[in-house]
Amino acid sequence: LFSGRVDFLLSAPELKFLPEPDFPEVAFAGRSNVGKSSLLNAITGRRSIARASVTPGRTQELNFFEVGEPTLFRLVDMPGYGFAKAPVKVVERWKKLVRSFLRGRVVLKRTMLLIDSRHGVKPVDEEMMTMLDESAVGYRIVMTKADKIKASELAETAELVRAAARKHPAAYPEIQITSSEKKMGIDELRAALLEDISH
Ligand code: GDP
Repeated sequence: LFSGRVDFLLSAPELKFLPEPDFPEVAFAGRSNVGKSSLLNAITGRRSIARASVTPGRTQELNFFEVGEPTLFRLVDMPGYGFAKAPVKVVERWKKLVRSFLRGRVVLKRTMLLIDSRHGVKPVDEEMMTMLDESAVGYRIVMTKADKIKASELAETAELVRAAARKHPAAYPEIQITSSEKKMGIDELRAALLEDISH
């Protein structure tokens, strides 16, 4: 399926620009630089379907991709968060956009929350998890860049991430461990995603 059609659809800087809610959607969220673009490229088998935004001002859109011919579902690349230097106004705009999308999007089947394997769950991720709990959609936690640390450290961080997940009602208790670089956990994530959209 992922080797078939995957097309960029549109970029929505505000809710009024969202596409019609006519296909199931799975959203991807995470701190800036968590490896979200790389993961989207890895699961779609594309080199550059998703591009990393380099400046905070350019990260404020929801990017939609369509998968399948005819279209079966959409992937939504949510704007990254956690820029230390982001102006308050930008952060407020981000919160408003993301919160209303998460709460109001009827076709949203699941959110994938990406956590950097080197850093674990940071306070901004906790905030995001709380925001996700308040939306009606369950989320999976996906650890990224697993190749960057030793197996023993990875196991330790994974356990801490699982413990954090258990405190959040809408988080899946099992987590996904991935490396876009080494193509690790990518097939498993695709399978989870396909299960999510078919419910
Ligand atoms: P985004 O800002 O969340 O979209 O993050 P990117 O996908 O642009 O990745 C941020 C940086 O991390 C880039 O330099 C990537 O090459 C690197 N990166 C992303 N995924 C991996 C991975 O699985 N392994 C390693 N070693 N580096 C990664």
